Amino acid sequence: MSGLRLIRTRRDLRAEIGAWKAAGLTVGVVPTMGALHEGHLSLVERARAETDRVIVTLFVNPRQFNSAADLAAYPRTEGEDFERLVPAGAHILYVPDPEEVYPPGFATTISVGGVTQGLCGAFRPGHFDGVATVVAKLLLQSQADRAYFGEKDYQQLLTVQRLVADLDLPTRIVPCPTLRDSDGLAMSSRNRRLSPQERDLAGALPRALFDAAGRIGAGEATSPVLASAREALLAAGFSRVEYLELRNAADLAPVETLEGGPARLLVAAFMGEVRLIDNVPVTMA
Ligand code: AMP
Repeated sequence: MSGLRLIRTRRDLRAEIGAWKAAGLTVGVVPTMGALHEGHLSLVERARAETDRVIVTLFVNPRQFNSAADLAAYPRTEGEDFERLVPAGAHILYVPDPEEVYPPGFATTISVGGVTQGLCGAFRPGHFDGVATVVAKLLLQSQADRAYFGEKDYQQLLTVQRLVADLDLPTRIVPCPTLRDSDGLAMSSRNRRLSPQERDLAGALPRALFDAAGRIGAGEATSPVLASAREALLAAGFSRVEYLELRNAADLAPVETLEGGPARLLVAAFMGEVRLIDNVPVTMA
């Protein structure tokens, strides 16, 4: 028998966590939107190593989608997700319905400033309000001591860190490195939507990113490097590059050079209908 319990209501969740807390156990939470891959499982593994009990949440949060078509197309594989989490050693898979998260009359939005400006914040209006609101709820509901977030979604990670600091939430946010396929493409639930041919072409995204990061790190001027990386992506079959920007790694302020400390190169680009994001650190060689 597996030790993994499927829970769908706040009530059942609270009862289970209450018993853990009474026994003095620590709790780790891994918030996800499902369609789990090795990247998600690496977060679960880290949580298993650092906390006594691990909750994985699966909620495709309607409030963080700014397009109904994108929400409808998001992959949903709950049965498979459950099966993958059994050997990973998670204790609870929490899968609330939207009405459980946003009951009638729900009227609160949490809006984080600063790090949400630009990048995905500019192209997905309301996205980070949706993320901040649902993450605050999930952290409070899970009473987590630690919560695990991937660097893959770097702007989201910084947004959640800001949220927790500003609202004095008692959860430590643990950043986790990006897991990549053998050609460098960051693992993502959205990769499932790529055709085999698109999937092949998508390898150009990490190549362009790492190449540009290396050149900027070696001292080349940022603007021409980014212009040529954009061209490389379009030539490789990406239909649109939403952004490709160098930012300060700590506060996401736009930067031209590495003089202000560690930087991050972040990208969002479309391969066919599928919007892919990625980011890499940029440091002086
Ligand atoms: P998602 O289900 O896409 O909302 O992702 C859930 C969590 O897994 C987020 O904290 C993501 O940053 C993280 N994640 C997604 N893809 C990866 C990856 N390739 N490597 C590490 N973490 C990831």
